[in-house]
Amino acid sequence: MYEEEVSTLSKELATQKWQECLEIIRDIVNAQKFSAWFEPIKPLKLENNILTIQVPSQFWYEWLEEHYYSILRSTIAKVIGEDGKLQYSINIDQSEPEFEQSSSVRLPQRPVPPSKPGNLNDINRYQPNQVQNPFVIPGIQKNKVSSNLNGSYVFERFIEGDCNRLARSAAIAIAEKPGNNSFNPFFIYGGTGLGKTHLTQSIGNKIRQDFGDEKAILYTSSDDFTNEFVHAIRNNRASEFSAFYRNIDVLIIDDIQFFSGKEKTQEEFFHIFNALHQDGKQIILTSDRAPKDIPDIQDRLISRFNWGLAADLQLPDYETRFAILERKALDNGIEFEPSILEFIATNFKSSVRDLEGAIIKLLAASSLQHLDYIDLQMAKRILKDMIRENNKQITIETIQTHVCDFFGIDTNKVREKTRKQEIVEARQIAMYLSKKMTKASLKTIGLQFGGRDHSTVIHAITTVEDRIKTSSKHQQIMKDIEHKIELSSL
Ligand code: ADP
Ligand code: MG
Repeated sequence: MYEEEVSTLSKELATQKWQECLEIIRDIVNAQKFSAWFEPIKPLKLENNILTIQVPSQFWYEWLEEHYYSILRSTIAKVIGEDGKLQYSINIDQSEPEFEQSSSVRLPQRPVPPSKPGNLNDINRYQPNQVQNPFVIPGIQKNKVSSNLNGSYVFERFIEGDCNRLARSAAIAIAEKPGNNSFNPFFIYGGTGLGKTHLTQSIGNKIRQDFGDEKAILYTSSDDFTNEFVHAIRNNRASEFSAFYRNIDVLIIDDIQFFSGKEKTQEEFFHIFNALHQDGKQIILTSDRAPKDIPDIQDRLISRFNWGLAADLQLPDYETRFAILERKALDNGIEFEPSILEFIATNFKSSVRDLEGAIIKLLAASSLQHLDYIDLQMAKRILKDMIRENNKQITIETIQTHVCDFFGIDTNKVREKTRKQEIVEARQIAMYLSKKMTKASLKTIGLQFGGRDHSTVIHAITTVEDRIKTSSKHQQIMKDIEHKIELSSL
């Protein structure tokens, strides 16, 4: 009896903790990958800080290991604690599928994992591909800098099209002569999932390949930069931080729009920028919008962003989408009938990430259902929900406009920092709906509402949720607004 109780408790605990993990992961991983790879996972038990999760197949486990190791690891540390561990249990109820060479979809060959299906695999056994906080390395030496580059983002895998020609050729020119060119800084901008990270990392990887230890390369996100800087100040190590960055030969900072509203960080970056630029070091930046459109960034930084080359990435046309799909299928070791690729290229237009998401969804579905063949009909069925979601072009701006219309206030007001009660309420509702109706992350939502923190967005969401729960009037208001937004985006 006692044992039964313990096991029920451990299962409940596992479910609760895994739910917390999913909430964190949902914010990091895009919606399609999340639903393809994480939703089907079942939490089994939580004992001695070891969370056991059940995955549908051996392949699944390998895929998670290969693609989501660091996310899982940091999430487990956050939810369960630093000594938290994750164990996989592979569902062995279904027999291993056999893959025929002749089928139109084949699962990629993966290296044989360390233990047989059915065993528990301890995630902590693998050497984490962890990135250390680079500036704490004592006695900095160039070759000690861990560059944070992901080796799979290379030019060879970046398909050229009209949408990216300028940015791509400039990137290649920079990789050949880092620092010593007229594209300094190189500023790439464009919507999410259009290849900014891929392209900038390709520059880093090519330089690393050609120059080896001769050049210290560092890829970092604007968020990591900010967090490290805050950490450095707190620990009286600001000068070390600054010295570390001035020692870099090729500095890549991704998603610089998140510097928005962060005065101190901008100040520090401004000085680092000047020092590097003066020394002929290469600076590469990305943003989801053009320099002049980033809110709350110092003018002197914006003007520097325009010193070199600002190139944008646009949506790929049909031919480029098709070529990308062929390449992605090849990279994943899958073969698809051309009609399937045509179908995806016709229906997924809003980002390259979505194209990739569609391929991955097919791959995951075939693994989950133990299929060794996918035909067009099945592909259509598997991708149906994704297409519906993709075609809904609801933006945060649309939501802001409708909510403000409803309350009879000026749209710009919700983006300003005013604390007037009716505006606060409209802003909270618009934030809540932005999370519910778009794929934007909390951070992006915060940014679109005048550069607010993601915790402010969370607060807004929970406030609105509470109101909906406790007041039927609010419930009705929300329904009405949502309905209007949906109608407007059909
Ligand atoms: P962003 O940083 O702009 O949000 P990413 O660089 O992360 O976009 O790209 C999203 C996904 O799409 C990545 O997996 C990337 O490899 C892929 N991708 C983007 N553009 C291309 C391209 N031109 N060729 C091949 N893959 C691409
Ligand atoms: Mg990116």
